[in-house]
Amino acid sequence: MLSVEEAQQRVLDEVSPIDAEEVAIADAHGRVLREDVIARGDVPLRDNSAMDGYAVRAEDAGPLRVIGEVRAGSVATMALEPGTAMRIMTGAPIPDGADAVARLEITDQGIEVVNLRHQVKRGANIRRRGEDMREGDVVLTSGTLLRAGEIGVLATAQHARVRVARRPTVAILSTGDELVDVGESVTPGRVINSNLYSLAALVRETGAIPRPQPIVRDSREATMAAIERALECDFVVSSGGVSVGAYDFVKEALDALGAETKFWRVAMKPGKPVVLSRVRDRLFFGLPGNPVSCMVGFTLFVAPALRKAMGMTADLLPPMVNLRTIAPMRGSERRTYVRVRVIARDGELVAEPMRVQGSGASTSMRGANGLAIVEAGVAEIASGAMVPVLMI
Ligand code: AMP
Ligand code: MG
Repeated sequence: MLSVEEAQQRVLDEVSPIDAEEVAIADAHGRVLREDVIARGDVPLRDNSAMDGYAVRAEDAGPLRVIGEVRAGSVATMALEPGTAMRIMTGAPIPDGADAVARLEITDQGIEVVNLRHQVKRGANIRRRGEDMREGDVVLTSGTLLRAGEIGVLATAQHARVRVARRPTVAILSTGDELVDVGESVTPGRVINSNLYSLAALVRETGAIPRPQPIVRDSREATMAAIERALECDFVVSSGGVSVGAYDFVKEALDALGAETKFWRVAMKPGKPVVLSRVRDRLFFGLPGNPVSCMVGFTLFVAPALRKAMGMTADLLPPMVNLRTIAPMRGSERRTYVRVRVIARDGELVAEPMRVQGSGASTSMRGANGLAIVEAGVAEIASGAMVPVLMI
């Protein structure tokens, strides 16, 4: 059976970048940059003061005659002569002739004449022209996920608009005769279509647009028709109907549609039945119906594909760290992904396995922010041992 890593590689091999669009930087948060961004000017544009104080000449000692003041936003109209100083505010350009700033706290704060408690070093408290960025510098590269820090850099580099990946649309199909929508009455045998909502949230968290589809009943024809309709989206994700049960029609429907199935089982628990298929020019992910298997499958296979489609080049897969587990973890004959909460305890990050671990138990994902990996054949990992954890 295919390993998770092999399956992930097959997924990524199938994905090519989606088209880009231009947006205002106020709308660019969470998007993936699709151009290299160049600084349009030096920042700061002139040497300026990092402190409130006096602009001085470092070699001057003794009382200095105060010849004026520069505020942020203005430029001094005269230059400093030997034996003089100028009051200066944080961010104000350094006047000609000055080569250091004495911060207010080391002076007597004189109005006409100022005394320094000690001399200051050349360059002290001066932010140099171009220290933050130089005109022409590439300050962000294509493929970067734009978070708060990057948005600030875009504005500083004088870019009001920016090219980002279009958000891919993701059709979400829920298969199952037993499914009812939330809000409808739940009679025995019925199951609420919770996967629709958790998958839609995961799609949004990845930066794509979920397109919920009507519930698909368990027949070959209904499944085929639903997949056909869903192909208007950039990606199709389904839940349920991928095992070997008598009413699992996803694989059959895909075959009937002439889809090219790349894999349909992966050596993992939860979530062994996972389908990757190419239907015409679209990628189809068939995830298992169990709520937990479904979310784990999305995290390991679909989210990386969406990131690659948006043009991300790094961090496609969740980062892995080694953490101490604070309770025992059980493994199985397949590689097991144990849902954990990564928490700070006594100054260290540790993994706390969720108490409920059943693949059908939606509460095992509640608050989970990590997937600990217990390799195939390892029956148990003792409390206190180190385990690799995927940060999700
Ligand atoms: P299946 O993979 O279709 O055999 O479904 C496995 C289990 O997941 C069954 O108990 C289903 O009732 C449940 N299930 C399937 N689809 C969903 C869904 N959309 N939301 C919640 N549970 C589901
Ligand atoms: Mg089913």
